[in-house]
Formats: sequence, C-alpha cells, structure tokens
Amino acid sequence: MARTRKIYLEESEMPHKWYNIQADMPNKMLPPLHPGTKQPLGPDDLAPLFPMELIKQEVSQEKWIEIPEEVQDIYRIWRPSPLIRARNFEKLLDAPVRIYYKNESVSPAGSHKPNTAVPQAYYNYKEGVKKITTETGAGQWGSALSFATQFFDIDLQVFMVKVSYNQKPYRKSMVNTWGGKIVASPSTLTEAGRKVLEQDPDSPGSLGIAISEAVEMAAKDPDTKYSLGSVLNHVLLHQTIIGEEAIRQFSKTNDFPDVVIGCFGGGSNFAGISFPFIRLNLCQGKQTRLVAVEPESCPKLTRGVFHYDFGDTMGMTPLLPMFTLGHNFMPPKIHAGGLRYHGAGPIVSQLLKDKLIEATAVHQIEAFEAGVKFARSEGIIPAPESTHAIAQVIKEAHKAREEGKNKTILFNLSGHGLVDMASYDQYFAGNLQDYSVTEQQIKESIKELDIFPAE
Ligand SMILES: *Cc1c(COP(=O)(O)O)cnc(C)c1O
Repeated sequence: MARTRKIYLEESEMPHKWYNIQADMPNKMLPPLHPGTKQPLGPDDLAPLFPMELIKQEVSQEKWIEIPEEVQDIYRIWRPSPLIRARNFEKLLDAPVRIYYKNESVSPAGSHKPNTAVPQAYYNYKEGVKKITTETGAGQWGSALSFATQFFDIDLQVFMVKVSYNQKPYRKSMVNTWGGKIVASPSTLTEAGRKVLEQDPDSPGSLGIAISEAVEMAAKDPDTKYSLGSVLNHVLLHQTIIGEEAIRQFSKTNDFPDVVIGCFGGGSNFAGISFPFIRLNLCQGKQTRLVAVEPESCPKLTRGVFHYDFGDTMGMTPLLPMFTLGHNFMPPKIHAGGLRYHGAGPIVSQLLKDKLIEATAVHQIEAFEAGVKFARSEGIIPAPESTHAIAQVIKEAHKAREEGKNKTILFNLSGHGLVDMASYDQYFAGNLQDYSVTEQQIKESIKELDIFPAE
C-alpha cells in the first residue's frame, strides 16, 4: 500500500485574484448576439437578468480580478482544496506516470460549483437583489447555489427538470436544507411552464424548459435576477481559483504537469483547472497539454461545429459563438447528467479553434470502470462526470508506458459521487449502455444553425 501524499496550502496562501484569460487570448471571441435583432449585445440587454458587476466581468479585459474579502471568507470553509498525489492509483496503472488530482469534492455541496455560486450570490447581494432564480438538471448547480445564497439572505427559486426531480430526491433535500425553494419543471409558477403543461400534463421537462421558467420569473420582477452555473465568461473566471491554487501547490513539489485533464459539460471545471496553465504556456513558454473530456453521447467539441447558437433549447438566450451540436440536439440519458449539454462556453470554444487546448471523448461504461478503479485505490467515489477525466488519465498512462516516457498528469476531481450512487448501482447491475451519435444525427441537428449568421 503506497502512501497518498497531500499538498496543502495554508489558508493565507489561497489566491486572492481570479485569472481572466480574455486578457491573454491571441484571438478575441466574436461578440454574443441579441436573439431577436441578431446584433451584438450591449450591457443593457443583460441588465434585467444579471447584476452589473457580473456583466462587467463577462466582458472584462483585465488580467486579474480581485476576489472580494467576503467571498474569500466563505471560500475558506473548504479552500484551499488539497492537491493529492494518487500513489495507489499510479501503482495500479503500472506506468511511468506521476498522477495528481485537485480535490474539488471537498466543498459543502460536493463539487466545484460553489466556486462561482458564492461570488454570484455576493454580487447580487451587493446590488440589492432579493431573489435569484435558476434551473438545474441533476441538481448539482441548484444545491450549490442554495448553499451560496443563504449567506446573503437571498431567496432562491430553483426549477429542476421533472424527471430528475422525481429520480434524484437528495439534491432536492440539499436545496431545502440550505433554505432554497425548488419545484419540478414544467411548473404552474410561470407562463412558460403552464403552457407546456396544458399541451402535455405529463411532460418530463427538459433543461430548456427549466431555463425558460427561471428567465421568465427573473425578467418579470425588478428585485429578482437569474444565475447560470457554467458556459458564461464570468462563471469560468470564478473557477480559475482551482488552477491558480494548483500552480502554487506544485511550486512546493519538484514536479510540474505535462498534461492537465478535466471533464467537460459547459466548460467551467475544465476552464478552472486549465486556464491558469494556459497562462503559463502563453506568458512563460511552458508546454503543458490541456485536455477536455466529453461523453461520446454528447460530442460537441470533437464532432460539433463552431457556429453561433442559442444557449438553451427554446431560443431565449443570446446567440453565442461556440462549438455546438445544435440547440435541439437531444443527448441520450447518460448518467453523467452534468455533461449532457449541447454547446460549449465561448472562451473554451475559441481556445479549441485556435488549438490551444485539445478535446477527446469517452464512453460512459469506460468512464464508470475508471471511476471504480479510482475509488478502490484512492478511496474517493468520483461523480459520474469526473469519471470521464479519470478514464482519460488511464489512457494517458497507457500511452506513456507504450512510448516509454515519463509523464506527470494532473486532473480535476470535479466532485464526489455520494449523491449519485443509484447510477453506480445501475453500472454494477450491468444496465448501462454506451451510446454513439451517428453522423446523420449530427448533420440533422446542426442543419437548423444555417439560419444564424456563421462565423
Ligand atoms: C456540473 C458538473 C460538471 C460539468 O459542468 P462543467 O461546467 O463542464 O464543469 C462536472 N462535474 C461535476 C461534479 C459537476 O457538478
């Protein structure tokens, strides 16, 4: 039994700035477009939905953005998160690799999502917002935001996709424990929800419908704003504390990663661990590889197109320049719910287009296999999303062995799987299936994009 080695930072060593990669990007992103006029969006267009400080961060070109004291205080409940050398997992793989992971599962909500939920709640509070609405699929984002809003006495209304609401009761319990309100979507609280229910009283709901409900409620009330847990620039910005911390932790070792790996839904945890290492590539001549790992069943980075598309299914959000499978793409119901999103954040999309990062895809059974190996060697049961990153770690280790090269690997353990044990049960019962999307399906679903201005 090899000894696992933890590299902690003192509380006082936690970074107090977020890194804004927009300052260093060689090619700037195309602007978001208004969904109606198709003209570039101005700050005023977003003001009904977001507080001004977050809108400023969305377009900021400042390289460093100070983390407010109040936010740092709450971060200190679980930050700095440990960087761990996975010696037992290394031994199991029997390859010339050193493997480190950043353990983001130590937050109270069990994932990286509170890193942005807390500052988002804070900036809303500073601007006098009384209530926030949001949508949640599997419930991870809803629970993280409920944890965050309670610190600032902000009411929270979560719209949770109905199938998940019925199948995953514990995330709902977490939202309630922290004081948030949560309802199955479609609901009778909004016109959008009532309309869907009129046509189909048994509608299972979808993320697109839940977004419509949350946006409608926020748009109708001047004291209410809306919040998103991934994709947008300010969300990715807040997550960079993960990678900035990791760089400080590595400076306490004789090691430095050759490759950094993160699973990919909308891009927030991948951005969080990778952007600070891209900073060192761009500004200090390092040559770290950055690898985003998506599910084969929802392959926007590896098989989608770079195009303007809506962030939601209903076409209510701004048009964003991104790698996408089309906003009507219906990913199969895989168990890593957090990775079932049709598009990718605009910054990450631009970086992929410019070949500053790599993307790859893995099947869900391979991912669960990797997750179980990790649990049995390192002890922590990873979230189904995070197992995709671990599957890629194993591939990188095998490649290193074949090539006879030493390699240092860092991956982001974006969350634990303790609220997702039903999906592990399904895996052990042999009930999981691998889904491959056909070329024809992708062609069909991106056809709709032709009506939007191309890049
Ligand atoms: C939400 C979530 C993801 C996927 O979202 P990203 O924005 O791509 O990070 C990954 N892992 C966990 C544990 C999540 O909760």
